[in-house]
Amino acid sequence: MNTIFSRIISGEIPAAKVYEDEQTLAFLDIRPAARGHVLVVPKEEYTSLLDMPVELVAAVARTVQIVATAIMHGLRAEGFTVVQNDGTAAGQTVFHYHVHISPRWQGDSPIVQWIQSKPEQPELQAVANQLKQHIAQ
Ligand code: 5GP
Repeated sequence: MNTIFSRIISGEIPAAKVYEDEQTLAFLDIRPAARGHVLVVPKEEYTSLLDMPVELVAAVARTVQIVATAIMHGLRAEGFTVVQNDGTAAGQTVFHYHVHISPRWQGDSPIVQWIQSKPEQPELQAVANQLKQHIAQ
């Protein structure tokens, strides 16, 4: 696979780059949710978080922290939202793992919004039990 992000990483197509290290690249989203919306990608191509070695997950997280610091200081943001869409059902459109970081200011439009449900405690416990069966220790 040669994703659009791999073509940005190789320099084949341009992007407004913000930060780069050996394993990761951060650049502005071409269709930003807010001014300063950045994408952080691993240079090695993986579709999903679930496919990635944990060291690379950590490298991306480190870059997210570096970029979020720059967003807070450089753009005087009041907060930021971090999102990763994993899978078509989640809204992933570029199948090269990436993390969105979008600056936030009081009163702006939400980047992620959901309708809160109100499950009873037994339902919460049942879901927790279902998940715990699939957590590798
Ligand atoms: P997803 O929906 O997969 O979570 O997010 C993909 C993001 O990649 C979108 O927000 C979209 O605007 C951005 N994007 C798609 N193509 C390009 C491109 O060629 N350059 C840049 N900088 N961003 C892109």
